[in-house]
Amino acid sequence: MKAIVYYDVGDFRLEDVATPKIGSKEILVRVRACGICSTDLYRAEYRRAKPGSVLGHEISGEVAEIGSEVKRFNIGDRVAVLHHAPCGACYYCMHAQEPLCDQYRRTNVDPGGFAEYIRVPSELVEKTVVKIPEKMSFEEATMIEPTACAVRAISKSRVSPGDTVLVIGGGPLGLLNAQVAKAYGATQVIVSDHHDFRIKIAEKVGVDYAFNSKKTNIEESVRGLTDGRGADLVVIAVASSSAVQEGLKIVRWGGKVCIFGDFRDVPQPNLDIDPKIILRDDVTILGSWGCAPYDYYAAFNLIKSGRVKVKDMITHKFPLEQFNEALRVISSRECMRVVLEI
Ligand SMILES: [Zn+2]
Ligand SMILES: [Zn+2]
Repeated sequence: MKAIVYYDVGDFRLEDVATPKIGSKEILVRVRACGICSTDLYRAEYRRAKPGSVLGHEISGEVAEIGSEVKRFNIGDRVAVLHHAPCGACYYCMHAQEPLCDQYRRTNVDPGGFAEYIRVPSELVEKTVVKIPEKMSFEEATMIEPTACAVRAISKSRVSPGDTVLVIGGGPLGLLNAQVAKAYGATQVIVSDHHDFRIKIAEKVGVDYAFNSKKTNIEESVRGLTDGRGADLVVIAVASSSAVQEGLKIVRWGGKVCIFGDFRDVPQPNLDIDPKIILRDDVTILGSWGCAPYDYYAAFNLIKSGRVKVKDMITHKFPLEQFNEALRVISSRECMRVVLEI
């Protein structure tokens, strides 16, 4: 089968690799679409990926083969696959902290979504494969995983009806956090970014205010919209510690700042925080990474019902053969979500 194999920074090659073989509790999925996520690119850029590996984790496709013991699926089922499954029984799972679960971190699809076929291990078959309806396209279904990460961030941040939420960073995950915050009842959702292309898409998907931070003073604007208080929640949807500092300035007393951007790879100065912000201003700083199966199912329903709009966020589609062209588009920033059609 064809797959995009990672070798080094900027070195991805289309190659023929062995189609994975499945066990009795596993399924083989013919991948139809896979989103290209910035975390995939960070893994490549900062060499956290192993040379010879296949990346890609925002996956949808059709069931091509089922193991003899698999009951939940039939050949031809249209599915979306979440690539990590928690055990459900360890200390972390018992505390609803599934992304810390050892099995969660260990499990994955084989070899990765930038390939024609993936083997889905039994842990995933049981918990994290969702059948998608005919009216949901494969491209839209690739957005369930990132939406699930936003669902987790917004529910961890306990957004309440009437809240004002500021999202710093208007990339795909920023806009998903903004839309999920609206679905959770936030009445003013503000996105700040410095690319006009992204601002336009933010407006298209129903964000209340989308500001270009190069042209608008974000702090003043947010205070203007909140009787001077500041935002109830600020989501940091970029891996930038200066964005966190900005968020701490704009959050209201007693509000929350949720760190969401993937800081694992992008070298950043440590945060320099005045403890009084936490003590006297009662600001809570939290983080959110990954998603649990229940976040995945919630995200599926939010997309299926149209509460989270993903169609307008998919600005580019490429076949596997044009993977490097897709990377060029992503680095130009004149795009939102870029999806491979496989
Ligand atoms: Zn992702
Ligand atoms: Zn566990």
